[in-house]
Amino acid sequence: MKILNWKEKINVHELDEVNKCLKSGGLVIFPTETVYGLGADARNSEAVNNIFKAKGRANDNPLIVHLDSKSNISKYAEITNEIEEKLIDAFMPGPFTIILKKKDNIPSNVSAGLDTVGIRIPSNEIANTILYTSGIPIAAPSANVSGRPSGTNIDDIIQEFDGKVDYIIDGDNTDIGLESTVVKVIDNTPTILRPGFITAEDIMEVIGTVKVSDNIFKKVDGPVESPGMKYKHYAPEAKCELIYIHIENDLVNYFKEKSTNNTVIIGSSKLKDIPCKKFLNYGDSLISIAHNIFKLLRLADTYHPDLILIEGVSKEGLGLAIMNRLIRACSHNYIER
Ligand code: AMP
Ligand code: MG
Repeated sequence: MKILNWKEKINVHELDEVNKCLKSGGLVIFPTETVYGLGADARNSEAVNNIFKAKGRANDNPLIVHLDSKSNISKYAEITNEIEEKLIDAFMPGPFTIILKKKDNIPSNVSAGLDTVGIRIPSNEIANTILYTSGIPIAAPSANVSGRPSGTNIDDIIQEFDGKVDYIIDGDNTDIGLESTVVKVIDNTPTILRPGFITAEDIMEVIGTVKVSDNIFKKVDGPVESPGMKYKHYAPEAKCELIYIHIENDLVNYFKEKSTNNTVIIGSSKLKDIPCKKFLNYGDSLISIAHNIFKLLRLADTYHPDLILIEGVSKEGLGLAIMNRLIRACSHNYIER
């Protein structure tokens, strides 16, 4: 296994090695603008199987196929209506995944047996350069052991995947920090299956209608449109509680009452003076919370607390995606008032 440092600049000789590795069915961890991806050639079902193995991912949870440009989408999927076309034009490249009808050259383990496939065009330079120069459609889930917080920085990734993949490419901390918005057009309505940086409001502005799947905050057991919804996810080892209290004084008081010298608090600067084992500041804007949250969920565990208390946010705009991840990280141990 090799770790490549492309933080400053892409090394063209190493790029050649990475592309050869992908062509021969290898596994490569690479940065994107959302989170790191653990990728392989999407056309090679054996290579795709190795992604599931490396992550310990259930094989009924489909992967997203990453492409370099819009003009290549029709090689692997069918665009069947104008709304899909408009969404692609407005939001790709970027942190946006569209679920389309799959073509037969994408093996069924990529889509977990579904007749649809998630397509994304990353805007990150490293991801896009690999996709463009290799010409390979890359199937990639987030680079984290299944159920754990997604990989957004190189130390967390090396800790989990050292020796388990062929290449790890260091492109520094990911910009956005949350996975892509996953959208499927259902009955002519763009339907958000997983919220992300592209918000419901953004989609509303372009299409004039949008729906958020009821399942994004549910504990789902039966069949769902997006199999990823079923699982406890993004979770630290320690027990977590998520708290959203609209009135600031009440929020601070709740944390004061709950916190002990064995509690880690993850939240904004208004909680910084509350006595606890460790306070981890996720910032005071939704952008900075998205950017920091997965790293802090992992960091919290390193203090071996008996409880992690996490400050929630309002479920508007980017807040919807943040709360979708945090509610799962806390296994639905959540209060809101
Ligand atoms: P990850 O790769 O960890 O970011 O997760 C990818 C997620 O995209 C999955 O868990 C699903 O929620 C969603 N997804 C991928 N492909 C499909 C599909 N064909 N239909 C519905 N959802 C999908
Ligand atoms: Mg993931």
